[in-house]
Amino acid sequence: MKLNEHYHSLEDSYLFSRISQKVAAFQAANPHRKIIRLGIGDVTLPLCPVVVEAMEAAVREMGKADTFHGYGPEQGYSFLKEAIAAYYGERGVTLSPEEIFISDGAKSDLGNILDLFDQDNIVLIPDPVYPVYVDTNRMAGRRIRFLSCIRENGFLPLPDPQIKADLIYLCSPNNPTGAVYDREGLSKWVAYALDQKAVILFDAAYEAFVSDPGLPRSIFEIPGAERCAIELCSLSKTAGFTGTRCGYTIVPNALRFGGDSVNRMWLRRQTTKFNGVPYIVQRGAAAVFTSQGRKQTGEAVAYYKENARILAQALRQMGVWFVGGEHSPYLWLQCPGGMSSWDYFDALLQEKGIVGTPGSGFGENGEGFFRLTAFGSRESTQEAAALLVK
Ligand code: PLP
Repeated sequence: MKLNEHYHSLEDSYLFSRISQKVAAFQAANPHRKIIRLGIGDVTLPLCPVVVEAMEAAVREMGKADTFHGYGPEQGYSFLKEAIAAYYGERGVTLSPEEIFISDGAKSDLGNILDLFDQDNIVLIPDPVYPVYVDTNRMAGRRIRFLSCIRENGFLPLPDPQIKADLIYLCSPNNPTGAVYDREGLSKWVAYALDQKAVILFDAAYEAFVSDPGLPRSIFEIPGAERCAIELCSLSKTAGFTGTRCGYTIVPNALRFGGDSVNRMWLRRQTTKFNGVPYIVQRGAAAVFTSQGRKQTGEAVAYYKENARILAQALRQMGVWFVGGEHSPYLWLQCPGGMSSWDYFDALLQEKGIVGTPGSGFGENGEGFFRLTAFGSRESTQEAAALLVK
């Protein structure tokens, strides 16, 4: 027996535990000081009423013999896939339900999708980045090339035709930076992927935060992407499903290499290793796409976006350089006075009682930067903004 030794190449994910330790020490030393947490990536508003009602009705169905549901289709119920296809249709993206696979969230599928790709593939991953992309590939021993996201490129790197890649990760709106690609930027990535015969894994977990109709919310808004991209999306941030768990992965029928259909491979993988998302949860998810659901979830997203606007205004007043905060719940700022990410973390905590996330926790290029999130309450966000400009 041999264990998977690639696990040795994983770095300890100590970012959030180190933050918790520092906050706990500060609280113990200053029991009367208030702490404002702007470091979390989790939502705080509850599920919207229409989702709760749909799940309650589904629970009642499950309790009666004639409406009970046992195993469902591994790839998701048609009622949800059709609702998602209609949602994309509004933006001119035509999807057939068989191209949509319901998941228990984007994180699982970001790991699972790698089953389809050989270990020898070269993977291109932005830095800084949502750490799951790096760790899932390291676990499989794949070679990773990092794409430099820096202030000079607005944290939105473009492809370099000299660099070879097989799998490309893109996340827009981005976690941790909040930066959003425009149509031109994404078109360059699609052209590069088609040229390289590569696959783009497009993470659209924050698409609901894009309110400018000129900005793409899906890679499939770019012509040609259906031949080179897979999109992973989630209801976690769109509809507060972080604890309820539902997302979806789009694998187009046109994504083919040689004689192989990636869509058929994914179906085969899912029907072998996955038994579907609970019926009750899928009913709740379908409610998100009704007109009432769109209105109610839209109000929650608008609430977070207003928080982001308040924080952005404070950063402008401070004269701090930042990206994000407009079509994203994240703001990514350059630490003032050339401070390191952890020094700025300590300074903000000690002087203002504000907790954020040090950028260095998201990759080498994150050093000297800092992430604030808009997922707090309005009151605490306003309080933090006032403290920041003081
Ligand atoms: N992708 C990105 C960029 C994220 O930031 C997150 C969660 O924070 C996820 C995916 C995971 O989403 P889910 O809750 O659907 O697993």
